[in-house]
Amino acid sequence: MEDLEKLHFTGTVWRPPHEAHSVLLQVTVGCTHRACKFCSLYGDLRFRMSPLEEVEADLQIIARYQPRARRVFLVGANPFVLSYGRLVRLADLIRDYLPKVATIGMFSRISDIRQKTPEQLRDLRLRGFTGISIGTETGDDPTLHFMNKGTTAREIDEQCRKLDEAGIEYYFTYMTGLAGAGNGHRAARASVELFNRLHPYIIGVVSLTLFPEAPLWQEVRDGRFVEASEGERLEELRTLVAGLQIPVTVMAHTVSNAVPLLGRLPEDRARMLRELDDARRRFNERELAAYRRGIVHL
Ligand code: SF4
Repeated sequence: MEDLEKLHFTGTVWRPPHEAHSVLLQVTVGCTHRACKFCSLYGDLRFRMSPLEEVEADLQIIARYQPRARRVFLVGANPFVLSYGRLVRLADLIRDYLPKVATIGMFSRISDIRQKTPEQLRDLRLRGFTGISIGTETGDDPTLHFMNKGTTAREIDEQCRKLDEAGIEYYFTYMTGLAGAGNGHRAARASVELFNRLHPYIIGVVSLTLFPEAPLWQEVRDGRFVEASEGERLEELRTLVAGLQIPVTVMAHTVSNAVPLLGRLPEDRARMLRELDDARRRFNERELAAYRRGIVHL
């Protein structure tokens, strides 16, 4: 097991819950954007590409432990920013060492999709790139703008349609509380309108949880952003679950969700809404807020 310690992981490794069984391979470090006000995931790390020799050295080790791996998840905040040529090279390298790998996933920003042509996307799909996780957070333009996400609802729509046309499956993140106090319904409704036009297979729901490293932490202290109550966040999630008319799995069960919720729409909608209503009755604001204050790490 000594050689596992030689794997080139830098800083905290983040992956979506549904990639729990994927082989993790670092191909980038950090995020190219580093500007979302609520984000404290990558700290001071500057974006860099891993040298191919480093990736190959890791693959040699992984091949000894998981030679029959079927899925690889590329580590970093947005490896899909890599050029088409670099991604093709990585896919070839992965197949050299892990010939049974069928699909390759990773995080992507919307701007990373923009720089790829429809033909390149189709070719990437043929090479196994599918199941791309996109931190959309919301479809509400004022919130996207205030939080410096660097994208708009229209752009999310345009770029995800390109993924649809290329046959690349994609997953979204939705963040309750991100629009601030009093704006949860608006954010959920705008997101429902956007998401219902697209085909995310999974929507992973998280809830805004601030740490001192996030720029928004200071804005809260300065009174420039007022956090939504826990009750409002549950109502926001209710609006989202009630409004989504596409077949989609909603996964709101990670640490930032004070009330865990998991199900496939539309078949589980009634049960999920019932669970949210029950939670509203069973827990008061003080209890739910205490839960959030107790979160030490996402
Ligand atoms: S939320 Fe994602 S895109 Fe925004 S700064 Fe953090 S890692 Fe980068």
